Amino acid sequence: MKKEPVKIKERQAKVRAKDFDEVVLGYSEKEALDEAARCLQCKNPLCISGCPVGIDIKTFIYKITQKDYIGAYKTIQEKNNFPSICGRVCPAEYQCRKACVLTREGEPYASQLAISIHFLERFAGDFGMKSNTIKPSHVSGSMPYVKKVAVVGSGPAGLSCAGELARSGIKVVVFEGLHKLGGVLRYGIPPFRLPRDILDYEIDSLKKMGVEFVTNLIVGKNKDIDELFKEGFNAVFLGLGAGIPSFLGIKGENLCNIYSANEFLTRVNLMSAYKFPEAHTPVNIGKNIIVVGGGNTAMDAARCALRLQKINNIAAEATIMYRRSEVEMPARRLEIEHAKEEGVKFKLLAKPLEFIGDEKGFVKKMRCIQCKLGEPDASGRRKPTEIPGSEFEMSCAIAIIAIGLNANELLTKVTPALKTDKHGDVIVNPETMETSLKNVFAGGDIVGGEGTVIEAMGMAKKAAKAIVERLFDSLTPH
Ligand code: FAD
Ligand code: SF4
Repeated sequence: MKKEPVKIKERQAKVRAKDFDEVVLGYSEKEALDEAARCLQCKNPLCISGCPVGIDIKTFIYKITQKDYIGAYKTIQEKNNFPSICGRVCPAEYQCRKACVLTREGEPYASQLAISIHFLERFAGDFGMKSNTIKPSHVSGSMPYVKKVAVVGSGPAGLSCAGELARSGIKVVVFEGLHKLGGVLRYGIPPFRLPRDILDYEIDSLKKMGVEFVTNLIVGKNKDIDELFKEGFNAVFLGLGAGIPSFLGIKGENLCNIYSANEFLTRVNLMSAYKFPEAHTPVNIGKNIIVVGGGNTAMDAARCALRLQKINNIAAEATIMYRRSEVEMPARRLEIEHAKEEGVKFKLLAKPLEFIGDEKGFVKKMRCIQCKLGEPDASGRRKPTEIPGSEFEMSCAIAIIAIGLNANELLTKVTPALKTDKHGDVIVNPETMETSLKNVFAGGDIVGGEGTVIEAMGMAKKAAKAIVERLFDSLTPH
């Protein structure tokens, strides 16, 4: 008998849209067992080829069917240090689930029938976390360290690299420019998608392994790479991310109440503006909030904005404006569905031409134009072109621009020997992730790529392996 996919439990849209608590509730043990039992245990498991870090998906699902949940957790951890995080944020519908044999060939993303690999990963990850299986291989002070590595940035790349190095008996110090750790996992992705206790658990586990964290320190400003080497670090890993927002470059974009999504989300998620005045940082909210863009950042910004409207008893009206159609939206399908269920509106095939302000310099409306799709462009997506004569206006109290992020060049600009490409991304040897500077490695968004959490972690793991080989090779007598 053909088994139906096991639907994941979620909080009701009208309840959850008023708070920042987690939306997806996860599988119970029975649900995980039922979903795992649907896996065909293919001889040639296509799903693995869809995973950017090559998790042995077939084996971990098999272990779940055998109720060996810790075994499943350990199998995932061979390739991915943070299963509870990736099980919540991975765009599985474009990756492992899309490659699953149960998705029909040629589909733009995973079909409903594909195994819910991400939810099973989350189940195994949460089980491992609750059972506290982390056995630090190098508890601080238990053994003298012979090598020391500085990790710059505490996003998924930095955290993943730190964990790998600490497990190999290397002393790791992570330097983070912000006052809190986690990178985008803390300041970008809202808690209703990634509860902060999960992130805190992973960071605490690293601390238990002896990793040291220094916050409020910007490498490139407070100290430079040379100084790190002089302080005795044997190697440096750069996980700087891509934190500089792109803008539309249109008239009126510098009016008040126009935010970059980065600033808006940082105010809300990092500085807890949704608790203002209890928290110190405010964020302006009004009727008619328009978010420009179609990626995860746009969905997160729109869903946060809608929640803030509801919390502040403002008639909820948050609209996503995207110049292509829904099929081309790069956001996770789940997030698009959740945004719609919660009441976010979608104005597709449209783009802003100009922001118009009031006499005090605050945005009040947008002049926009309708688009149609032409031939695919360099990104492989159909190119939007303006339809002449289709201009229209929309009221807009707050605009949030979520059209992309670029490399932060603060460190690279003061380190000329560190080679970058035309986008400002750090150039690395793809085999080792070593940069143009000897013993300086990099990974995650600062080197470009798909810009996903799992990819950032995969690059960091590769870099950590190369660092360990380099540092311990130098100890071996020749
Ligand atoms: P980051 O997470 O950006 O971390 C870099 C860290 O380095 C930051 O904390 C920064 O403060 C610090 N830093 C930078 N320069 C310095 C310096 N000179 N000195 C000290 N510290 C420094 N991906 C997914 O897979 N799924 C999703 O659902 C998803 N949603 C997203 C939602 C949003 C709003 C955004 C913005 C991104 C999202 N992404 C998602 C992308 C994903 O978060 C990134 O690809 C990932 O975080 C990159 O990790 P990283 O470690 O390279 O960089
Ligand atoms: Fe096959 Fe899909 Fe199971 Fe992978 S997850 S082994 S592709 S059925």
